[in-house]
Amino acid sequence: MAASIFRRPGALLVLASSAFGGAAYRYNAGPSSSSSSLNPHTFTPYTLVDKETVSRTSAIFTLRNRDGAADTEAVKDAWKHGVWSVQIKQPQLQIGRDYTPLPPRTDSEADSEEKMHDLRLLIRQEEGGEVSTYLHRLPEQSTIELRGPKLEWELPEDTQEVIFIAGGTGIAPAMQIAHTLGAKPGRRMHILWANRRREECLGGVGDGGELQETHDGLSSWKRFLGFAPPPAPAAKVDSQGQGVIVRELEALKKQGARHSSALAIQYYVDEENKFIKPQDVARNVRSKDMAQPGSRMILVSGPEGFIEHWAGKKVWIGGRETQGQLGGVLSTMDLKGWSIHKL
Ligand SMILES: Cc1cc2nc3c(=O)[nH]c(=O)nc-3n(C[C@H](O)[C@H](O)[C@H](O)COP(=O)(O)OP(=O)(O)OC[C@H]3O[C@@H](n4cnc5c(N)ncnc54)[C@H](O)[C@@H]3O)c2cc1C
Repeated sequence: MAASIFRRPGALLVLASSAFGGAAYRYNAGPSSSSSSLNPHTFTPYTLVDKETVSRTSAIFTLRNRDGAADTEAVKDAWKHGVWSVQIKQPQLQIGRDYTPLPPRTDSEADSEEKMHDLRLLIRQEEGGEVSTYLHRLPEQSTIELRGPKLEWELPEDTQEVIFIAGGTGIAPAMQIAHTLGAKPGRRMHILWANRRREECLGGVGDGGELQETHDGLSSWKRFLGFAPPPAPAAKVDSQGQGVIVRELEALKKQGARHSSALAIQYYVDEENKFIKPQDVARNVRSKDMAQPGSRMILVSGPEGFIEHWAGKKVWIGGRETQGQLGGVLSTMDLKGWSIHKL
């Protein structure tokens, strides 16, 4: 369980919960001057240019460097190396939280130089969460200060195949890896993405050919009996009924295919009683091209409980979050030839 310290008026509290099972930091004030480009040392002002609703609790925040500064080499580098994050500051409480940028848009909407450098974050509003609630309440054109990049995990250069088990916003690092791996020829990636509600992945039809119900996952009889939850306010779907994240996953598949890389995605939705099963992982572990040289890894990312269920707890040692022992479902499986990493 991630421990973090944050300040409320008159009190220092130790908090023990954070999505991704990860750290939430009270920021170190550091030098007060701000640099115009994103950098790990000082907070850089960005403008919230767009907030696109994904579901009742999550949205994509598009942030543009207020001074129009281009990406630094460090950011360009981070995109090539693996999973990276930025830290956003909550100015009143003096706390910071980490968020994982989504890959740059591949579609025609990234039609200007300015948009190419935008940072996009998929942020879930945690109930009672300090920073995520603060961010979700901000109107467009607000200033948000962030620093980074921070490399969270480096993808080995020789990675041949990745199985990524993602829960909720844990899809963001999966998309980063898909972006990086998809630029290398002949690589393979399988994403198993679990969500509590269908509204997070509207229109997602798995590549495994699994049975999907209607585009929003509810059969007409369930809707008739009144089991349908209210639709996400203003969640945009395209003409094929796909929500924004599903659409971007489809775009990543096409991007990978251009480099002869293969990306397959399976969707799992709790409210449809569809959960990731060990067999779903095992099927991909017994991949046909195990003969190919290179590293193979299983990555797990999502809320703390999700990571623990699949791979055991991450452990804090000396103020740093470490992998801890392999536990959970994956520890009971034959995964010879695969290394496992908790994000
Ligand atoms: C590397 C990394 C990358 C991440 N990327 C993303 C991302 O892309 N998208 C994303 O949405 N998140 C991401 N996260 C999670 C994110 O950093 C935050 O942890 C998350 O937004 C919640 O922060 P918060 O300040 O809103 O919630 P917090 O205030 O930290 O609260 C978290 C939870 O604890 C509960 N809580 C609050 N106070 C108490 C208390 N006193 N006692 C008990 N429980 C309490 C809250 O109700 C809430 O449910 C990432 C985390 C890491 C480490």
